[in-house]
Amino acid sequence: MKNIVLFGPPGAGKGTQSEKLIEKYNFTHLATGDLFRMHLSEGTELGKQAQKYMNEGHLVPDEVVIDMVDAKINSTENSAGFIFDGFPRTVPQAEALDRLLDKKGTPITLMLMLDVPEPELINRISERGKTSGRADDQNIEKIRTRIRVYEKETLPVAEYYNNTGKLNKIYGVGNIDEIFNRLCEAIDSTL
Ligand code: ADP
Repeated sequence: MKNIVLFGPPGAGKGTQSEKLIEKYNFTHLATGDLFRMHLSEGTELGKQAQKYMNEGHLVPDEVVIDMVDAKINSTENSAGFIFDGFPRTVPQAEALDRLLDKKGTPITLMLMLDVPEPELINRISERGKTSGRADDQNIEKIRTRIRVYEKETLPVAEYYNNTGKLNKIYGVGNIDEIFNRLCEAIDSTL
């Protein structure tokens, strides 16, 4: 069992690459953004709580995110491992994830960090905004806010995993298969 944190700024390609990784390795996808959007579309209380933060490009409070992830991990059986996508996004979330996985006896194997320059991120998200229907993809100010929030609140999470030797930086520019191969090489080189 391998547990992977797929990390990187908004627009880095986490969703696209997750899909391919799941197909190849049979991982369970745990994408907090997708889970929130599902709650939103179903009109749940959790969705209502998250909406105002998401629409402005801010982070949903840690407790809300952590409880949702806890529930998802505990309701998953017989998994080949998790791909955490868009989580953890703060150091307290990373600490909480370690505690949750400790209880299961399956720690994080590695963090894959997709490295993409900012102008490319803005292009990709604006393109996605034309078809994704996501309010947070359609406004340049909100896109910039998300990138700033990433730099300030989320980047320290990379340092957190670097301290235990789990950080692996992957160059995230090129064609989708090329980047996918880089990710697979890193995964296959772990036990
Ligand atoms: P992005 O393409 O911006 O990475 P996501 O789909 O991962 O998009 O997340 C969309 C929004 O959902 C974020 O801007 C944030 O408001 C909220 N969100 C998702 N995951 C988290 C998290 N782990 N912690 C706090 N907020 C989150």
